[in-house]
Formats: sequence, structure tokens, C-alpha cells
Amino acid sequence: MMESTRMPSFLSGVERDPLDTDFIRMNFRSFVQRGILIIMVVNPLHALVLWLNHSAWWQLSLMAMFIQLPFYPLCGQQRSFAVFLPSVLALFSMVAVYIWLFSEHFGSSAGFHYLIMSLIPLVIFAGRIGLRLKVLICLLMAIGMFMAELKLPGTTTNSMSTEALEQLRILNLLICFISISMLTFTHFVTVSRIQSKLQYLAAYDPLTQLVNRRRMGQLAEQEVLQSRRQQYPLSVILADVDNFKMINDRHGHPVGDVALQHVSELISAIARDTDSCCRWGGEEFLVLLPHTNLQGAIQVAERIRQQVAATPLNAHDLELEMQLTLGVAMLMPNEKLAELIKRADTALYEGKRASRNCVVKSDPQSS
Ligand code: GH3
Ligand code: MG
Ligand code: MG
Repeated sequence: MMESTRMPSFLSGVERDPLDTDFIRMNFRSFVQRGILIIMVVNPLHALVLWLNHSAWWQLSLMAMFIQLPFYPLCGQQRSFAVFLPSVLALFSMVAVYIWLFSEHFGSSAGFHYLIMSLIPLVIFAGRIGLRLKVLICLLMAIGMFMAELKLPGTTTNSMSTEALEQLRILNLLICFISISMLTFTHFVTVSRIQSKLQYLAAYDPLTQLVNRRRMGQLAEQEVLQSRRQQYPLSVILADVDNFKMINDRHGHPVGDVALQHVSELISAIARDTDSCCRWGGEEFLVLLPHTNLQGAIQVAERIRQQVAATPLNAHDLELEMQLTLGVAMLMPNEKLAELIKRADTALYEGKRASRNCVVKSDPQSS
């Protein structure tokens, strides 16, 4: 199926459920697989304690492990939903039956019913279950656990010694604690990694690796406030590649892309660490220069212009000369960011109308 190239509507606030994204669905599968790995450790531990306490049920514990093991590949990312859904339901039921059988057999003192708690993350992190249903299932699990605590006899005729039951209870509590911690911790790490990747994607231009217009808007607004508060000059340079369309037309879009990367590298190399460079639009770049007055910004703009004109791009067996026209403006008292950039833009287009390959300053008196 073709993926839509339009912005998903849930980003603009409607239609698709943000609590049921492809990421959540796919992540849930790794989550279930991690749960199966935990079961692979839990069952042998049960078997060991039961065997040490001479209960024949250790075999049942090991058998449960071998039955659940094949579900690991069945819950993988590459499996279709038609395979995944019955597998995860079967797994869930098997765990529930295991808990129920062992609780009935050994009584509530053995604490097998506590294991219901370790299923909570599994329910909460599932993608396709709605929020209300999640709450309902958790509620039912809580009721199940407390009913088992209240209704089941503490010990049964099949039971082992009090010490053995105590060992099982402590083991089961530990299993709950460790499995919930591990599952929520790994989930936190995955979500944090994805979050920072998304933040990067939302802030940077993939072609030039410069910050994009959206992020530059935020940075510049902060800088405007700061420069007002601390009373230092703030300037901007808006640069536009001259006749860039011709480069695309003559040499093709891929060469045009490399040319944009080339220009962005030259601009970044000249800008200071405290300046911010951004790809403002197609072949337009915005440089934000804190602590720089109009004269200083004009000098930087002139240096950028000369450097770009003097450094042709060598790519795809051709030498491509490029030129920039740059508009420069300094923030005036009470001026808004949009007005400042508008002045730089007006200066830039004056330069385009005049001769191109030049630097034009914005005279605040004339605007
Ligand atoms: P001027 O000197 O007046 O600025 O002329 P120009 O040709 O540079 O300006 P125009 O606005 O006519 O053309 C800009 C071109 O930049 C058109 C568009 O296809 C191209 N462009 C915008 N973004 C990209 C990009 O990411 N890659 C490539 N290769 N071209 C791009
Ligand atoms: Mg241009
Ligand atoms: Mg342009």
C-alpha cells in the first residue's frame, strides 16, 4: 500500500488516534517479546524452587516455559497481524491459566496471584486497545488479584511447608517488581530515543543539516527577547542564491542539491559559534547574529558573499560558480522579529533588482 505523502491529520489535531500509532503498535510487539523473555526466566525459577521443595509441579512450570517459547517468533515485527493477534491472546490466556492453576494448588500464601500485576504494562502499552478498555482490563485484573487474596485459602492440602511457601511468595513479589521495572524502563528508553530523534527531525533541514525555518523562528524569538533585556545589538542576514533555477535547469536537481549543501557549508564556516544559520526556504539562508550591529553584520555578509563567489563547487565533473545576494538588517527598539526579517527581505530584493551578487543594508529610517 502506498504511504500518504500528506501530513497525517492527527498532527493537526483530528482523526487518527495519537495513542494508537504505527510506532506504538510496532513497539508493542518488541514489548511482548521482552515479556516472553522474562517468562523464560520466571518459569525455570519457579521450577527450581518447587523442585528444591519436593513438589512435582516443577515439571508443569518447565512445561509452561516450553509451550510459551515458540510464541517469541510469532510475535515478531515481520509477522502479520493475523498471526500476532491470536498469538498474543493465547500467550495472555496461558499466563492467566498458569497463575490461576498455581494459585489454586498452592493457596494464596505462595503469592502466584501477585503475578497478575506484571501483566499491567502489557495492557497499558498495547496500541489497538482504547483507553477505557485498558482501564477496564486493569480494573478486572486488580479485582481478580484481590479476590484471589481474599477467597483463596492461605494454604491448601497440596501445600508445601510454610518456609517453602514464604520462599515462593518472596520470589513472586520479586518477579513482579523486576518485570514491571524492566518493561517500563526499556519502554522509557525506547520512547526517549524516538522522542529526541523526532525533535531533531522537526528542527533540522535534512539536506543542509542547518536548523529549519520552524526552529529558527523559536531561536530568533528568544534572541530578540534576550537582546532587549540585556540591551545588545542583534542583526540578521538573509541570503539568496542568484539564478539558482538556472543551475537546476542546466545541471539537474541533484547538482542543485549539492550546490545548496556547498553554500550552507560556506555560510556556516564564516558564522561565529554564537550565530545561528538556517535554511529559510528553498535557496534562501538566514543568519542570526547576536551582539552584532549593522556595520558588523554588513562585514559578515560581505565575507560570505566573497567566499561563495570565490569558491566554485566541484561536483559531478563540473566546476560551478555561484553568487549570493544578501539583505542585512539590525533590530530596532520595539521592532518585532517578523518586521526585522521583512526589512532584510526587502533589502535582499533591492539587491536582486539592482545587480545581484551584492550586499544591501536595510535603512530603518526609509521603512
Ligand atoms: P534569483 O536570482 O532571482 O533568486 O533567481 P532564482 O532562480 O534563484 O530564484 P527562483 O525563485 O526563480 O528559483 C529558486 C529555485 O530554487 C526554484 C526551485 O526549484 C529551487 N529549489 C528550491 N529548493 C530546492 C532544493 O531543495 N533543491 C534544489 N535542487 N532546488 C531547489
Ligand atoms: Mg535565488
Ligand atoms: Mg529565493
